Amino acid sequence: MKTQLEIARDGIISEQMNQVAADENISPELIRSRVAKGEIVIPCNPSRKNQRAVGIGAGLRTKVNASIGTSSDICDIDAEVRKALIAQEEGADTLMELSAGGDLDAIRREVLKAVNLPVGNVPLYQAFKETGRKYKNPSKLDPEFLFDLIEKQLADGLSFMAIHCGINQYTIERLRKQGFRYGGLASKGGTFMVAWMDATGKENPLYEQFDRVCDLMKKYDAVLSLGNGIRAGAIHDSHDRAQMAEMIINCELAELGRERGCQMMVEGPGHVPLDEIQGNIMLEKRMSGNAPYYVLGPLPADTGAGYDHITAAIGAATSSWHGADLVCYITPAEHLALPNENDVREGVRATRLAVRIGDISKYPNKRESEKLAAMARRDMRWEDLEKHLMFPEVAKQMRRERCPQEEKTCTMCGDFCAMKKGMEVFADDIKYDKVSK
Ligand code: SF4
Repeated sequence: MKTQLEIARDGIISEQMNQVAADENISPELIRSRVAKGEIVIPCNPSRKNQRAVGIGAGLRTKVNASIGTSSDICDIDAEVRKALIAQEEGADTLMELSAGGDLDAIRREVLKAVNLPVGNVPLYQAFKETGRKYKNPSKLDPEFLFDLIEKQLADGLSFMAIHCGINQYTIERLRKQGFRYGGLASKGGTFMVAWMDATGKENPLYEQFDRVCDLMKKYDAVLSLGNGIRAGAIHDSHDRAQMAEMIINCELAELGRERGCQMMVEGPGHVPLDEIQGNIMLEKRMSGNAPYYVLGPLPADTGAGYDHITAAIGAATSSWHGADLVCYITPAEHLALPNENDVREGVRATRLAVRIGDISKYPNKRESEKLAAMARRDMRWEDLEKHLMFPEVAKQMRRERCPQEEKTCTMCGDFCAMKKGMEVFADDIKYDKVSK
């Protein structure tokens, strides 16, 4: 079986490429050429039926990922399935199943059955959790068990995996020589791999046997998303030497993986101040040869817990503007607790809005719906306005609950309505296209 990348290199437009082209209103040939260069990936493991083909990368709408999954403290398989369905209903483009408590095989399979989104995971979670259960010590992880587990998970139908190939002994040395970090390590899979390497003195098998990782991913045409195990967990650690070491290696691996015919993404960057986001994205794009960039947030502040979906949304708008291709949502529970169903809903909504804001600046020619919404608002055509809103039911309910005396206005200004007054003065001067572009 050939991967989407190999099919595109053969000059063939696959069914999935056609689907992405139709969804994005872009020519199938342009999609094919970007898939062939590795600038667009399509996570779509063919062993899973009824799965939506989603394009991630250059020239496409910025996509939103929602992550769900149990922990050792809260483990309710039905709740995770409900969260997966909420994420899909709210418009997430991809889903990551990141359970770390309970029967991990069963949870993954139930979630895969419930949704038609491309589903990804982090295989190191199950590898370390099961090793810990068996030997009471996750550092007893056997690399052969890890590789077998990756294949078992792929065979279930996962379409992408975050795999921490870019951590090696050189990266760990950078952490020690710089005096560790203000914010410690934030990645669970990455931290337990660092601990394994520290305990065994061995090189990361995912780095050492990178070709083997690629070949497994290729077998199922799953996208290899190079995990950001050394991402900054505090803005004061952003772009430190350890993070940069991993980023350089991940970008190098993205190129090597593409050469083997594997679809590749790079992940980053964690907590990053707003003024560093543009530079971070430029570096990833430049060093990886424009591999799609999957960003976590980024979170541009460390003091917003409780509202970190908003903190991250500000980072997400900035990152999507400057070229990020897939944004992982952050929920209001980030840094505090396992997200509940409402947190998932709020996280997806905040992130969809954020990437829309970013895309308005990334693609200035794709702003038409903003103009139509503004004109409906100007004309106080409330029902038309709802057609252009991202969350029409919220708008409708708010207006219904706080009903104005005069139907056309709203209770914000009542009889002091600027829209109404403006139309009284300028109604005869209106042209559809005020400024020709
Ligand atoms: S009342 Fe105020 S907020 Fe409401 S439509 Fe008029 S100008 Fe806008």
